[in-house]
Amino acid sequence: MDRRALFAMSQKLPSFAARSYAFQEYVPIRNWIGGKWVDGSTGQWLAVENPRHGMAMGKVTLSGAPDVAAAVEAAKIALPAWKNTPMRERAQVLFRLKALMERDLEELCWLVSHENGKTFAEGKGDVEKGIECVEFAIGLPMMADGGQLDVSRGVNCRTVHEPLGIVAGIVPFNFPVMVPLWMVPNALMAGNAFILKPSEVVPYGAMKLAELLKEAGLADGLFNVINGQREAVEAVVDHPDIQAVGFVGSSKVAKILYGRGAATGKRMLCLGSAKNHVIVVPDADVELTASNVIASSFGCAGQRCMASSLMVGVGDVQPIVDGMVAHVKKIRLGEDMGSIISGASRERILTYIAQAESLGAKVLVDGRGASVDGSPGHWIGPTVLDNVTIEMPAGCEEIFGPVLSIVRQPTLDAAIALQNKSLYANGAAIFTTRGAVARHAIEKLEAGMVGVNVGVPVPREPFSFGGFNASKFGHGDMTGWDGFRFWSRPKKITEKWAVYADASWMS
Ligand code: NAD
Repeated sequence: MDRRALFAMSQKLPSFAARSYAFQEYVPIRNWIGGKWVDGSTGQWLAVENPRHGMAMGKVTLSGAPDVAAAVEAAKIALPAWKNTPMRERAQVLFRLKALMERDLEELCWLVSHENGKTFAEGKGDVEKGIECVEFAIGLPMMADGGQLDVSRGVNCRTVHEPLGIVAGIVPFNFPVMVPLWMVPNALMAGNAFILKPSEVVPYGAMKLAELLKEAGLADGLFNVINGQREAVEAVVDHPDIQAVGFVGSSKVAKILYGRGAATGKRMLCLGSAKNHVIVVPDADVELTASNVIASSFGCAGQRCMASSLMVGVGDVQPIVDGMVAHVKKIRLGEDMGSIISGASRERILTYIAQAESLGAKVLVDGRGASVDGSPGHWIGPTVLDNVTIEMPAGCEEIFGPVLSIVRQPTLDAAIALQNKSLYANGAAIFTTRGAVARHAIEKLEAGMVGVNVGVPVPREPFSFGGFNASKFGHGDMTGWDGFRFWSRPKKITEKWAVYADASWMS
């Protein structure tokens, strides 16, 4: 047995040694249950690819219902003591997690870059935004008092936020560290035990989190990782002792799981796909708009649920389009922009471009055929399509790749109407120098997160993240205060402590 396999059998992963984009293998990834690495019960493994190189860097175990049941049993053992731990003491674990993530920042960033195909800088964005979610959760003791009031003489009402018990999260490929941390810190701070099902395509970031949480002092069983695909996911959603599930991924899966979990009585919050419209009006600042729209569309190779994938140009915005094209042409593939997650994704994206072209779209910048040093990785260069209509698949479906489609509209209201007709309503933005135009757009745009002169209007902590319509199934949002509320339940307490006999509930 070689060194990597031996490490994988032991209870500590070796450090990920890569400090550059050069291909690097890593250990096989098993499940993390009760503080131990264990193989999935299916006996099957899936190759984990480094998308930049198009080669397997490792493999991940696949799981089913027995593995989820084992994680639930481990959680049940750990839960009572954690529920009885005061919140400020729970926060100490997360203080240490933050310090450990900062200690291992470079390793985490390279790991994310290798498993996901992001550039190092984008990997850093993933990890640092994850740390921000940890910081928010650390601050919860300052916010989580439920409120109280003397409602009549001698009678007091108050609310306390109780843990739900065992809860779970199912996450997508595009942010291997941040999206788990949208959920885990808030859920742990609320006093729950957590079961995470990472994306099978990028399982490594979550496994490092498991190790760091253990090193931070979290008791075994409070954080478990079950790897796998649909079988593992369905086992999580169906398990009767899991009280709540947070999901982030495509709308198709989000909708199915939302219904399936709710039918078992679970609390479900499922975030889905996006087609974010960015409206550009002629008075917009040319340079600010061009640089921000391009950064939004092509950051993380467009594989972000907040990427502006459809620009709606109102009237004559040609100088801004020209500015955008100039910016796009400066993007160095492999250095400023990473690769596509898989060969299948690459093919899907290429089909959208070809279809749009055949339906009359004009290819202003063509990323087809681009590659980096002839590597067999999954590359597509930044692509800009003009004269797209929302009837074309590229105009109305989520492409989730480095493709910006431009649609032209005569008026601001027509542009807003396009967004409001979209199936998805995650984010939308407007670029303008006029306050009245911005205000009108804010009021009329139907999207969960709206930006003004901001290409990626992600609400930073303590604000919560979530879209409207088919971009979200469930009530409330995922991060920030809403996140804490999702992972806890409010208990309403009414007490009467009065020395006067005539004091009553209504007095
Ligand atoms: P995906 O839906 O394919 O996978 C997400 C998770 O669901 C993974 O853990 C996967 O194993 C599991 N899964 C996949 N198919 C399943 C099935 N049939 N039954 C049960 N489970 C299944 O999504 P992805 O490709 O990993 O991620 C990209 C998608 O995620 C995009 O649509 C993107 O918009 C969305 N996303 C949304 C947000 C948001 O906040 N709204 C954030 C990030 C990504």
